[in-house]
Amino acid sequence: MHATTQLERHLVCSDPSATSALGLALAGAAHAGDLIFLWGDLGAGKTHLAKAIGAGLGVTDTITSPTFILMAEYTGRLPLFHVDLYRLAGSVDALAGGLIDDRQATGVTLVEWPDRLEPALPARRLDVIIDGAGDDPRSITLRAGDPDLRRYLDAVR
Ligand code: ADP
Ligand code: MG
Repeated sequence: MHATTQLERHLVCSDPSATSALGLALAGAAHAGDLIFLWGDLGAGKTHLAKAIGAGLGVTDTITSPTFILMAEYTGRLPLFHVDLYRLAGSVDALAGGLIDDRQATGVTLVEWPDRLEPALPARRLDVIIDGAGDDPRSITLRAGDPDLRRYLDAVR
């Protein structure tokens, strides 16, 4: 298959199962050390997508929102680190605080509410921007912050 040269890809997931299928495809492209930011309002489907990525990584434990612990770790084909920064009131230097650190080089890190990390956002990341709420279709943009991460865009062709 011809690899894309684009760093951005747009798709529409018209129901939860379509978003789940996207998550499975993304998981198939995952390598250790990858960082995936899940952007979107409350109810957009960030956790829904995180569960599907986890399933695709072979996680068998139930993935919930790690609201009170900031980060939960799961065992799969690769370790999955699920971070949810919703409870953080404002911006926090989570990099300096050790939240996003070298431990995660062994697995895949998913971050909900990554805006809480601004302005210290690592450039080498996949952004998944989810737009839509309720039962409406989700408009989803994948943006690779590094050419190596185009493999995620290719995985959902
Ligand atoms: P977030 O983590 O972004 O706050 P959740 O994943 O917890 O959101 O909730 C999203 C809700 O929207 C779920 O109840 C899910 O079933 C529903 N939903 C409806 N349509 C879709 C869709 N196309 N993709 C993802 N979730 C959807
Ligand atoms: Mg959530």
